[in-house]
Amino acid sequence: MRKTEVAKRQKVFEAQRLLILEDANRIRENLVARPEDKDEVDQANAYIEQSRMMQWGEKARKQLRNIERVLEKIQKDEYELCDGVDCGEEIEPKRLAANGLTLFCIQCQEKLDHQDRVLRGARHMVH
Ligand SMILES: [Zn+2]
Repeated sequence: MRKTEVAKRQKVFEAQRLLILEDANRIRENLVARPEDKDEVDQANAYIEQSRMMQWGEKARKQLRNIERVLEKIQKDEYELCDGVDCGEEIEPKRLAANGLTLFCIQCQEKLDHQDRVLRGARHMVH
């Protein structure tokens, strides 16, 4: 990938990062607003809203970590290298073109997805 293209992407990722941080700040302010001050219906709505925001927060945190890792890689000039343990191969250009926040080559991604499924399966057994 050309340096100019990487630099262009870096700007986009930085903007995305800022957006998430701004959203997170706004949500934190909302969460601090106390539901006790409202009537029952409002309170119920506030709780629904709160759990929705917490779900959003979970996703946003993951995304933020992803973006920050990619920015770190760009700074080290390793944007195209796979993050897989003992891998270090180049990520397929097509993958990076389709999703600029890809951290792993296809082999490592498949391994991770598999581990994920196994973990999730194990958790189901516990419950
Ligand atoms: Zn890999």
